[in-house]
Amino acid sequence: LVTITEGTTKIQFPEFDKVSSDAPVFYNPHMELNRDISILALQTFQKEQNRPIAICDLFGGSGIRGIRYKNEIDSTDTISINDISETANEFEKINVELNNLQDINIYNHEASAFLRSHRGEFDVIDIDPFGTPSPFLDAAGYCARKNSLLCVTATDTSALCGTYKEPCIRKYNAKPYKSEYCHETGIRILTGYVALTLAKYKKYIEVKLSHSTEHYMRLYLEVKKGSKATDESLNNIGYISHCKHCLYRETNNGLATSIQDTCPECGEKLIHAGPLWLGKIQDEEFIGEMIKESENKKLNSKKELLKLLNSCHGEANAPITFYDMHHLCRVLKISAPKLDLVFDQLKKEGFIAIKSHYNPLAIKTDAPIKKIKSIIISLNCS
Ligand code: SAM
Repeated sequence: LVTITEGTTKIQFPEFDKVSSDAPVFYNPHMELNRDISILALQTFQKEQNRPIAICDLFGGSGIRGIRYKNEIDSTDTISINDISETANEFEKINVELNNLQDINIYNHEASAFLRSHRGEFDVIDIDPFGTPSPFLDAAGYCARKNSLLCVTATDTSALCGTYKEPCIRKYNAKPYKSEYCHETGIRILTGYVALTLAKYKKYIEVKLSHSTEHYMRLYLEVKKGSKATDESLNNIGYISHCKHCLYRETNNGLATSIQDTCPECGEKLIHAGPLWLGKIQDEEFIGEMIKESENKKLNSKKELLKLLNSCHGEANAPITFYDMHHLCRVLKISAPKLDLVFDQLKKEGFIAIKSHYNPLAIKTDAPIKKIKSIIISLNCS
């Protein structure tokens, strides 16, 4: 057996050669950052609600999430840890005892069946499956209570980012496109799919935090209820159209809108991705509270976590999509000027210029593509 410590929680599981769904009990050390961020998000949500929160860890594995939530978050109610594997359940029980915790129930059910039989019981539902969360979102939509928090991990980033188009259409009913900002498109496709799925149940979402890190994407969504507000919220669904020739892009809200097929800048054919979420994908205030909360917690990934959260905080009011400096310079066939100089010049000329957690070379700006190119060319010549 191996024993590891994350935060202030000890977890035991059978030794394995490599991280894989074939391991007797699943544990992925690369997800510690994800779990540390979850601690801060759930604690911030609990403080907002100002009452003990009942949490469902739907895909428990070793039990590390649910057990950490009980051990490291103030004011939790009962924690329910579910997993379809009996071996996982055995270790979940061992790990509850190892940490001397009460008020944790362990369940052995198929995830959707479990949720459907516990409708409206949870303040937080955490969906952390192997690969895609898509098959479980309908049950989450049916079960999620008003003003609850829905946390969703997706590790099928090749589908969401458009490396493979068909799996994305199959799982998320959306057409992806593998542009330089495909990780943002992926987050927006996943968010749009959750919004459309929940809408059936007259529920809508507010995105508190979203990030794309290494091999996964993660969403923190507050679920709200009401048919009229849900209808209004669906105005956030739409398309991103992209010109791969000149890098022009535009967004169009609405599901059945007519979208132009020709790039207004260069006349080439536009490529459309969607339906996807065009609404906000970061909540400045919520992320600000998470950053403050990090001072109260012992978290191994604190340095990395604060870098990511500060970046997401800065992106809260940024325009949709971004430009990759090196990609732009390849299209222009020139060498890249210093990134900071481009930011300075954009701001000097009155445009928004914001960095992004998706890519260290990203520029989020409201400047038109022609203007960005002319700034880069003039800096390159000076
Ligand atoms: N949340 C865990 C963590 O942070 O370490 C990792 C969970 S792991 C990615 C997915 C888990 O879901 C596995 O333990 C697997 O046994 C379980 N599982 C797979 N399909 C399931 C299903 N349909 N219903 C319930 N559990 C399932």
